[in-house]
Amino acid sequence: MSQPSEHSESAELREFRAEMRAFMREEAPKSLLGTSPCGPFDGYWGGKLHPEVPADVLRWRDVTLARGLTAPTWPKAYGGAGLTFAHAKVLYDEMRELGLPRPVVGFGFAMIGPTLLQFGNEEQKLQHLPAICAGEIRWCQGYSEPNAGSDLANVQLACEPDGPDHYMLNGQKVWTSHADRSDWIFCLARTDRAAKKQKGITFILVDMRTEGVTPRKIELISGASPFCETFFENVRVPRSNVVGEVNAGWTVAKALLGHERSMIGQSIGRDPGSTQRELVKLARKHLDAPEGPLPDALQRDRVAAVSMEEAAFQLTLDRLAQARAAGGPGTESSIMKIVATELKQRRFEAGMALAGAQGLGWEGDAFDDEDLSYTREWLRSRANTIEGGSSEVQLNIIAKAVLGLPEVK
Ligand SMILES: Cc1cc2nc3c(=O)[nH]c(=O)nc-3n(C[C@H](O)[C@H](O)[C@H](O)COP(=O)(O)OP(=O)(O)OC[C@H]3O[C@@H](n4cnc5c(N)ncnc54)[C@H](O)[C@@H]3O)c2cc1C
Repeated sequence: MSQPSEHSESAELREFRAEMRAFMREEAPKSLLGTSPCGPFDGYWGGKLHPEVPADVLRWRDVTLARGLTAPTWPKAYGGAGLTFAHAKVLYDEMRELGLPRPVVGFGFAMIGPTLLQFGNEEQKLQHLPAICAGEIRWCQGYSEPNAGSDLANVQLACEPDGPDHYMLNGQKVWTSHADRSDWIFCLARTDRAAKKQKGITFILVDMRTEGVTPRKIELISGASPFCETFFENVRVPRSNVVGEVNAGWTVAKALLGHERSMIGQSIGRDPGSTQRELVKLARKHLDAPEGPLPDALQRDRVAAVSMEEAAFQLTLDRLAQARAAGGPGTESSIMKIVATELKQRRFEAGMALAGAQGLGWEGDAFDDEDLSYTREWLRSRANTIEGGSSEVQLNIIAKAVLGLPEVK
């Protein structure tokens, strides 16, 4: 099936599309075809602590890396391909069409990489960006603390001078997803306690192998958890790891959050029609309706409504991608995050309504793997409106920055 935008794109983009299609058909490992819906968090997360990586995943990484296609829009000097966002979209369309995973994903590619491109110095870019492109280094995010989640400017991780060339970090981060599998962490730390909250924060990069850094897993009731607490005890970090200016980390932090929110939003966007196909398949299975119209009018209506909302969201994502070509994500990333995460919850709620009691399983022979993974995905969708800044906080940002409403005292 051809992509909807294919007909309206320029001759140059059409040529690029044909080139990418041929390249993937020729070079992508056949075993990976059809294995992925291809979102920005769906693929190889890389890193030195990654458990054994299948050979076909590494081969896919290698053939794309050789052409700079693991980070298509990044400059060639840092391991990318120097392509436009329009080209990158074509590339991802084609991956999605073949069901190929992205060759390298994760917080490096989605968050710290774009932030370093904007705020990092040349040395930092050369040290980190090619390693991210190659999936050699996995990053985690050290923002949240026990008393600094929504009120992020309240971070307290102490960062004090230790000789002329180093800082010493002491304190704790929390909800650090996958810290136990990561090689580096990007942190917000307090460098000036006397200044107004936002003015005394510094953005600093820390190698997780530095003495005194201890990630500890947080177990969840489900038994599975990405979460860690990360403790810093007299951790010596070179001053050269500060990104941007000392005490001006809030600006860097906000830019990174823009990337995080827009990536969460994008990861929820889907192929036109795929939600409808998925929900209809579920309905046929659970409502015992192998063919013809679905028997329940209310459920039919629900499937149609969610499918239309998803199609409209996909078009909005395309428009945002065009706007993004002119600069990094702005406040629209907050809008995208709310709309996408709530939409995802509606998608899974519709599926759960169709599954009925089969959607309530946690384990046991009465449920097949498909039912169980759907239930888990539905539960996971609850966290999407919290991570990266909760919906309430996004609404505050929109009220202030987009609508210009006064702050509630
Ligand atoms: C799946 C997942 C992964 C995460 N991964 C990471 C990670 O890798 N690294 C990291 O640093 N953090 C991570 N987080 C933490 C996440 O960023 C925080 O949970 C989030 O910012 C909310 O902060 P909090 O948990 O402290 O909640 P709180 O700030 O305590 O908020 C509690 C409730 O009060 C509401 N609230 C708070 N302030 C306001 C306000 N001013 N106006 C209106 N309502 C308000 C919130 O919306 C929420 O409903 C992750 C969270 C989740 C769920």
